[in-house]
Amino acid sequence: MTKNRRRPIVAGNWKMNTTLAEAGALAAELAEPLAGLGGVETVLCPPSISLAAVLRALDGRPVGLGAQNCHFEPKGAYTGEVSPTMLADLGCSHVILGHSERRAQFGETDGLIASKLRAAQAHGLIPIVCVGENLEQREGGKTHDVVAQQVRGALAHLSDEELSRLVVAYEPVWAIGTGRAASAAQANETIGFIRGQVIELAGWDAGGALRIQYGGSVTPSTAAELFAQPEIDGALVGGASLKAPDFIAICRAAHES
Ligand code: PEP
Repeated sequence: MTKNRRRPIVAGNWKMNTTLAEAGALAAELAEPLAGLGGVETVLCPPSISLAAVLRALDGRPVGLGAQNCHFEPKGAYTGEVSPTMLADLGCSHVILGHSERRAQFGETDGLIASKLRAAQAHGLIPIVCVGENLEQREGGKTHDVVAQQVRGALAHLSDEELSRLVVAYEPVWAIGTGRAASAAQANETIGFIRGQVIELAGWDAGGALRIQYGGSVTPSTAAELFAQPEIDGALVGGASLKAPDFIAICRAAHES
């Protein structure tokens, strides 16, 4: 499938930022401008404690609501965790899984991420599965090995139908929160490689249809060039998603790409 058949998706990962009032106010500021951008799917991913406030602020507009993580069990003795059942019940449409901060700081493995992915899909949530190499791995020429292992670890054995209900985010760790975005050519090359891995796993149709975002220091000034690349289907945005004008500008660039 060619890029113009894949609808770009831009998601804002607010991480552990915003109070309840700030989250509601930011969502209220974003709701109307994002709802008018039909060419791009937009998703807000606030802290879980603010999901309901953001949903209220969106007030039925066509903007997705995503969590930043979930457990793989529907309920039980898992103190401090949030289940996919709860997220779906609340009205979430998406969930970020395997973010590099969770891999590095909370020991998340490819196997755990695969379990979460299956659980999220079983509850009708669209997982945004993050993969990406760190600086040492990039400089050591290991980027392809690392992302191939992460992609295969999370996506092997999924059916075409299951692959059609998820998004991959390529996020080089060295570009996240550093202000040092990958070049459009670097991002396009690695995303093309990831697509190739999925084509090897599941065939041309599933791999060609899969949406793969870029994430890592995306700003309004870098967005248009990234979205012009043939392999890049939108962005996962951290820092710039906390500033309404910047996030709207990035979403608009995807809408116009
Ligand atoms: C992220 O956390 O997923 C991210 C891409 O952050 P930033 O845009 O701030 O680099």
